[in-house]
Amino acid sequence: MEKFKKRLTILNAVIEALIKGPETVKYPFGDLALPEGYRGKIEFDPDKCSGCGLCVRDCPADALQLNKKSREEYTLLYYPARCAYCGQCEDSCHHGAISHSNNLVGATTHKDDWVLVFKESKASQE
Ligand code: SF4
Ligand code: SF4
Repeated sequence: MEKFKKRLTILNAVIEALIKGPETVKYPFGDLALPEGYRGKIEFDPDKCSGCGLCVRDCPADALQLNKKSREEYTLLYYPARCAYCGQCEDSCHHGAISHSNNLVGATTHKDDWVLVFKESKASQE
């Protein structure tokens, strides 16, 4: 009798799962709803960045780099493959220039070459 009860429980679970459908999403072909506050892909607003370098100083993964010639002349680089998505840069930036989105992060097969120019100040482009 005990065995029969167990089998019935399993059968119930199987029928329930068949009715409910899969819990997984065929990402990237299906919609994926990530929760609010998810620390995903980094977003950057160059207009808000002052080049202070606090994010670079506090990044534990060496994922940010500031090449600064002067107050007006600097470039801020980001290495996504090194990033731990810890959120420290967002906390450190007092200007709100850097933040996490709740989008999933990208991928690469060339992690050392994967670098994004977050900001190139006008002076350093001249
Ligand atoms: S999320 Fe963390 S590891 Fe990534 S750049 Fe910001 S401080 Fe560095
Ligand atoms: S992103 Fe923020 S903390 Fe980083 S250099 Fe720009 S202003 Fe400073």
